[in-house]
Amino acid sequence: MPEFTSFGASFIISPLQLTLFPGSATLNLEPSTLNLRMKLDLLAFGVHPDDVELSCSGVLLVEKLRGKKTGVVDLTRGELGTRGSAAIREQEAALAAKILHLDARENLGMADGFFKNDEAHQRTIIAAIRRYQPEIILCNAPEDRHPDHGRSARLVEEAAFLAGLRKIETFHNEVLQEAWKPAYVFNYIQDRYLEPDFVIDISDVMDEKIESIKAYGTQFNSPGGDEPQTYISTPDFLESVIYRCKMMGKMIGVKYGEGFISKKMVGFSSLNALVTNRT
Ligand SMILES: [Zn+2]
Repeated sequence: MPEFTSFGASFIISPLQLTLFPGSATLNLEPSTLNLRMKLDLLAFGVHPDDVELSCSGVLLVEKLRGKKTGVVDLTRGELGTRGSAAIREQEAALAAKILHLDARENLGMADGFFKNDEAHQRTIIAAIRRYQPEIILCNAPEDRHPDHGRSARLVEEAAFLAGLRKIETFHNEVLQEAWKPAYVFNYIQDRYLEPDFVIDISDVMDEKIESIKAYGTQFNSPGGDEPQTYISTPDFLESVIYRCKMMGKMIGVKYGEGFISKKMVGFSSLNALVTNRT
């Protein structure tokens, strides 16, 4: 099992009641969330709490092991999920954040199922990107079984570009934010199989990835109870996540991998980062 350093002081996970989306619940900034301008290396957006865990938590763990600062921004509370409730999902997301050693996690409180890719929503995402100033953004699959996923991907991709335009003004705590353009925006791959442009080796952190998924006790691998069985609540679903990682890993000659899609050409400073196992 890999060893993680401690991030106690900068770990801002709390029962976040943070909602920045216009028209939604009151903004309630706890003292522990006031450092939301923390600069991150890697920021993963997911439209539902658990999208990130299912699809790219391995890479978040891999980068954390290399000393990078990582965070997650959830667009919605997943309130339309068949099982559990928004409040339970929030607790589950906080537990998963601890397992992933995230430096920050927040929820934008957009409407599950009904959020739009429009100016108001883009401005909310732009403000989040400028708060965290990530070098790399990970976002939902460009198309998927759940229609929210593709719409979320386009919303984040467009906001990531617009965040770099200084004439678009956004504010944090009434202070004008600096423009910020991430170097890369990569789509992760979730339910439907999509051909990745590159695969990252997550073999060393696969156990922690699965643990972070199991943090969502109401959603996955919990066939009992009074709630209805769903597409994702059977043991078969969790197995399919493992198979997907095995298949991605096999393509690069390692045990487990996560695949990503990039619209932009990916550049390397050297060949050192390449996995050189024979396949
Ligand atoms: Zn989802």
